[in-house]
Amino acid sequence: MAAPKVAVVGAGVVGLSTALCIAETCPSCSVTVLSDQFSPNTTSDVAAGMLIPHTYAGTPIHVQKQWFKETFTYLFAISNSAEASEAGIHLVSGWQVFKNSPKEELPFWSDIVLGFRVMSKAELQKFPQHQFGHTFTTLKCDCPPYLLWLEKRLKATGVQIYTRKVTDLWELHSEYNVVVNCTGIGACQLVGDEKLFPVRGQVLKVHAPWVKNFIRDGDGLTYIYPGIREVTLGGTRERGNWSLAPDPGTTKDIFDRCCSLEPSLQGAQDIKVKVGLRPSRQHVRLQKEVLSQGGVKLPVVHNYGHGAGGFSVHRGTAKEAACLVGECIAALQDSSSGAKL
Ligand code: FAD
Repeated sequence: MAAPKVAVVGAGVVGLSTALCIAETCPSCSVTVLSDQFSPNTTSDVAAGMLIPHTYAGTPIHVQKQWFKETFTYLFAISNSAEASEAGIHLVSGWQVFKNSPKEELPFWSDIVLGFRVMSKAELQKFPQHQFGHTFTTLKCDCPPYLLWLEKRLKATGVQIYTRKVTDLWELHSEYNVVVNCTGIGACQLVGDEKLFPVRGQVLKVHAPWVKNFIRDGDGLTYIYPGIREVTLGGTRERGNWSLAPDPGTTKDIFDRCCSLEPSLQGAQDIKVKVGLRPSRQHVRLQKEVLSQGGVKLPVVHNYGHGAGGFSVHRGTAKEAACLVGECIAALQDSSSGAKL
């Protein structure tokens, strides 16, 4: 069989990192990324990019922990390299505070982030409305620079990148041997997945360079995440809402909530409002499927549905998707050598 041709559909953090993992694990493959939108116009561009995992109800915790660990290890190495600034990856320390003590004292990811511990009474004095908290150091991606860095890595590895809207995965069967579906919320339309739904998130990106520590209310709704160039203030979680239009009332509400956690944000400037649709599901769809028409087969690997935690687990799920692509190629090679016998 000639060099296997793999198409990755989607150019958010999931598509780009999956394409990179495939190119790294299968150097003989010819990899192409096809997407109707690229940075800065994807959901991934809107994200805060904090490595604090969201929990997928339908996925075993040890699997989620492995995805997070692989992602943390990968980005930690970038943060510790000369590429850190260009890739937009940095360590950030801060606090996750609770009005009431959480049921589980230790989240599953507490031994992967750095220096995780319960906050002292003295530290909690910063948050008079909260009575319990965790402090730790984690990683943050400044999302648009990270996506551009991934694109640059892909081009350097020889991956082809084209703008194209795919209306049916089958349309790719004559050009590619394996197709990888990383279309995020686009999978609702592309593959008719009824288990996938949008969870609308509105955030503010502000200039407030004196804010150096992250602050996250334990319910996950209100957060202040400082990046290299701007601070992300959040947020909202609106299940089933497809609107990408910013809502001015919500902007004021987010700003007020964040100022009540960090009063110095009253002086924030250059406030930009962004909206994104989290591609949400009970569990990430990370799965092989063989499409077939008239005896012709097209192996597909799905990797979408990362909801509120795509940045936190992207490298782990990309590695698993690349492994599934490897299995598809091995099966194709077996069947083509069998056909020659
Ligand atoms: P996307 O970024 O949406 O990419 C999908 C790609 O597929 C796009 O390029 C699109 O153009 C392409 N596409 C779709 N359909 C087609 C088609 N038919 N043909 C061709 N191309 C197609 N996660 C974290 O881990 N930490 C955070 O702090 C965090 N904060 C967030 C804050 C907000 C406000 C939001 C909205 C999300 C946040 N997330 C966070 C979640 C994270 O953004 C998502 O999980 C992640 O971006 C999903 O990435 P994706 O590549 O699957 O989707």
